[in-house]
Amino acid sequence: MHLSDHSLSQLDAAYVQTLDEGALRGLLLRALEDLKEARERLGQNPTNSSRPPSSQAPWDRPSAGQDATHGDAADDAASTPDQEGDQPDEASTPPQEPSTQSGQTSKPKTPKRKPGKQPGAPGFGRTQVFEAQETRAHRPEVCEGCGKTLPADAPSVAYAGFQSIDLVWGDVERPGLHLHITDHRLHDGLCECGHHTRARPGEGLVEDARLGAVALSEWRLVGPGLATLIVALHLRFRMSHRRIREFLHDWLGVRLSTGTIKGTLHEAAGATAPLEEALIEAVVASDLLHADETSWAQGGDLLWLWVFTSATVTLFVVAKRGRAILDRILPGFSGWLMSDGWQSYRHLPQRLRCWAHLTRKAQGLIDSYDREAQAFGRQVQDTFDTLIGAIHEARAGPAGDLPGTHAALLAELHAACVRLLGHRHAKTKALAVELWNDWEAIFRVLDNPQWPITNNAAERALRHWVIARRIMMGTRTEAGSRTFTLLASVIETCRQRGHVPWPYLAGVIAERRAGRAATPLPAPMPGL
Ligand SMILES: [Zn+2]
Repeated sequence: MHLSDHSLSQLDAAYVQTLDEGALRGLLLRALEDLKEARERLGQNPTNSSRPPSSQAPWDRPSAGQDATHGDAADDAASTPDQEGDQPDEASTPPQEPSTQSGQTSKPKTPKRKPGKQPGAPGFGRTQVFEAQETRAHRPEVCEGCGKTLPADAPSVAYAGFQSIDLVWGDVERPGLHLHITDHRLHDGLCECGHHTRARPGEGLVEDARLGAVALSEWRLVGPGLATLIVALHLRFRMSHRRIREFLHDWLGVRLSTGTIKGTLHEAAGATAPLEEALIEAVVASDLLHADETSWAQGGDLLWLWVFTSATVTLFVVAKRGRAILDRILPGFSGWLMSDGWQSYRHLPQRLRCWAHLTRKAQGLIDSYDREAQAFGRQVQDTFDTLIGAIHEARAGPAGDLPGTHAALLAELHAACVRLLGHRHAKTKALAVELWNDWEAIFRVLDNPQWPITNNAAERALRHWVIARRIMMGTRTEAGSRTFTLLASVIETCRQRGHVPWPYLAGVIAERRAGRAATPLPAPMPGL
């Protein structure tokens, strides 16, 4: 948007008469761009944008009654920031000047009281006023009327202000966490042409189908560094929103509502959303990829948390268990995929299988009360033990011909599997079928002993979240799942590439709040 409401209200026939042709053309072009943007926004609805159904006028909704209750349920979600989540931060929200979602004004009143802070009630954030270490004046640089550059000494007066708290990192020479408080003063500057232009804080908008529309703004109480600390406490140290609030209050003397904390996480996820494309590209370009999945509760749905990880990238996704997610992420992937034996992976041509899964099943047979099961379990176990020894030797010395050397051993196991395909003992039958069915993928590692024989890399990446699942109890909504998977992917990938993720993440938040593109993901450190 080029022309603020403040500028627009000054533009009239008398002012236009004073401008020369060049200035007029400039003004017309800015006005045209604004007009087109406004028209497009007017035409937006849930069928052609990521706007939620609740942003639609009631008479336009497919079934007004049902959708209204659905919208309320989404708003109640504690783990997902929504419009309410941002409200306690009103102290750091611009005065209702540019109504970016004009459709919202006609929103019908719902009699039901929503949990959390009520609109208009005093929030935690705004009762606290800090002594600022710095006052920063933001002056308009260009006249929105005639388009001329405003000189630094043009007459100006502060028309609004806000305070921000940011975090300054400790380092070896200056350890500790330092909070830096800034008083921001927004100025209204007067041009020679008589037009008043107001400095506006930077803003960015990220439209993400699953996060919703995320408005990013420099007009925030929580600066990018403090926002990053909140992300770290939540995702790296697995603290709930309440615990984060307690930590910030007890250790830093900063009072933030859980709504502001949720809003900050949502905004940080929005800032990183455009990086997902690069993450998927890196996954697809991997020579060797590990995939694994674990159950994940989202609201009332049982979904799956997936991880795709290689040496230099990790991508987390919450999705249904099925081929759809593989079809979305893996087209174009031509490397080797290490996974468990689950059906949906079977169509991929270049697969490796985790031996740890199989030897665990063999151990289960050894521990059973069935003699034939015990014997088969031991045979499987012994075969894998011999082959694992051979693989370790081959890794250290000359590779040799492992399939040829161990042909007899493999033939014996294969014969046993064929014999037991219809065995009465269910687990014996299951293991025989699994080995027989996926024989090629299981023993392919013998052709290249440098390949891994376990899926430990993927299991390790998931373990952190298996513990978090108990604390967070899953996520409540799709946006909540997306918030955590996006941020977790970026954090994990930075670490794998030898970078501390936090300064990078703070930089991404700052760039996107200013309306600029995010800094690309850091490249792997040399030697990785
Ligand atoms: Zn001017």
